[in-house]
Amino acid sequence: MHVFQHPEFDRHEQIVFGFDDVSGLRAIIAIHNTCRGPALGGLRIFPYANEDDALTDVLRLSRGMTYKSALANLPLGGGKAVIIADPKCDKTPALLEAMGRLVDSLGGRYITAEDSGSSEADMQVIARQTEHVSGLRKASGESGDPSPFTAHGVFFALRCAVRHGLGRQHLKGVRVAIQGVGHVGTHLARKLYAAGATLVVSDVNEAAAVQLANELGAEVVSPAEIFDVDVDVFAPCALGGVIDETVCERLKARVVAGAANNQLASPDAGRRLHERGILYTPDYAANAGGVIEVAWQLRRQGYRREAVMAHIERIEDTLDEIFQRARREHSPPEEIADRVAEERFKAQPHQAA
Ligand code: NAD
Repeated sequence: MHVFQHPEFDRHEQIVFGFDDVSGLRAIIAIHNTCRGPALGGLRIFPYANEDDALTDVLRLSRGMTYKSALANLPLGGGKAVIIADPKCDKTPALLEAMGRLVDSLGGRYITAEDSGSSEADMQVIARQTEHVSGLRKASGESGDPSPFTAHGVFFALRCAVRHGLGRQHLKGVRVAIQGVGHVGTHLARKLYAAGATLVVSDVNEAAAVQLANELGAEVVSPAEIFDVDVDVFAPCALGGVIDETVCERLKARVVAGAANNQLASPDAGRRLHERGILYTPDYAANAGGVIEVAWQLRRQGYRREAVMAHIERIEDTLDEIFQRARREHSPPEEIADRVAEERFKAQPHQAA
C-alpha cells in the first residue's frame, strides 16, 4: 500500500493508522485539510474487504469534507475516520473506547461524528475517552439526528435550482420525483408538499413509500421506474453513484437536486447532464445542512436554533453564486462548486496545525 502514490491521495495533511490488540481495533483517520479549522468528519464502521479499500474510502471522504465545510462557510476543515469491522457484530464498547483514545491522541485536529455504521449511542461511548466528538444530543437543544437539518438545506437548494433551471419562483405545482424516502427523503417530501409541490416517490422499502404517499397524496413508482417519470425535478435521496451515463439519457427532469452523497457516477455523467440542459445541483452544497448544525454545536458562543436554520438557508445564496457563474462560464455547476470551495479553503491561513 503506497499512501503518497494512492490515486485518492490529494495532499492530505495527516493519515493515522490505529491498532488496539485488546479490542481488535483497526482504524484509519485521514485529515485532509485544516486551513479553515479542525478537521470534522464522521466515523464509518464497515467490514472493508481489505486495508486498501478502507484507505481509499477515508482519503476520498475526508477530502469531500474539506470541500463541503468550505462551501458552507464553516470554520472547519475536512477529515474522516474508518474502522474495519462489521457494525452488526464487532462493535463493542472496548472497540469504541479504543477509537476514542485514537481520536483524542490527535489533540482536537480531528473531530469525529456519526456516519454509516456508527450511531449517536456509539458517539456517547467514544465521548468517555475524548471531548473531540460532535453530534451528541444535549439538554440545550442540540440534535443527535442531522437528517431534518439536511432536509432543510436540500429544500432551499432545490428551490434555488428550480428558479435557475426552470425559471419558476415557487414550488407550487412543480413535480418532484424522490428516490429514497428514508430519514432525509421523508423530511424533504413533507416540506415540498407543504410548499405545494406534487410528488412521486420510490423506495426499495415499498411499505415506507406507500405510507408516505398516503400521507402526502403522492404517486408511488418502483425503484427501476423513478428515473423515467415525467417530472420537473429528480431528487436522489438514497444512494451515491445513481447518475451514470444511462440515467443521464433517461431523465425527463430538467433539474437534479437531492441529499445523496456523490450522486454523479463519474465527471462525464455531470458533463452529459450539462449538455442535455439538465441543471445539476452539486450534492455537497445541497446536503450540508447536517454538518452546519454540527458546526454550531461546536461553537463556544453557544447554540441558537434560529441562527442554525438561517445559516442552513444560506445554502441558497451559495448556489445562486454557483449557478450564475456556471451560466456565465458555460461550465457544469459541480466544476464551479469545486472552484468556489477551493478558493475558500486555499485562501485561509493555516488555523489548526
Ligand atoms: P436512509 O438510509 O435513512 O434512507 C435511504 C433510503 O433509501 C432508505 O429508505 C432505503 O430503503 C432507500 N433506498 C436504498 N436504495 C434504494 C434504491 N435503489 N431505490 C430507492 N430507494 C432506495 O439515509 P438518509 O439518512 O435519509 O440519507 C439519504 C442519503 O443522503 C444518503 O446518500 C446519505 O449519505 C445522504 N446524506 C444524508 C445526510 C443526513 O443527515 N442523514 C447528510 C448528508 C448526506
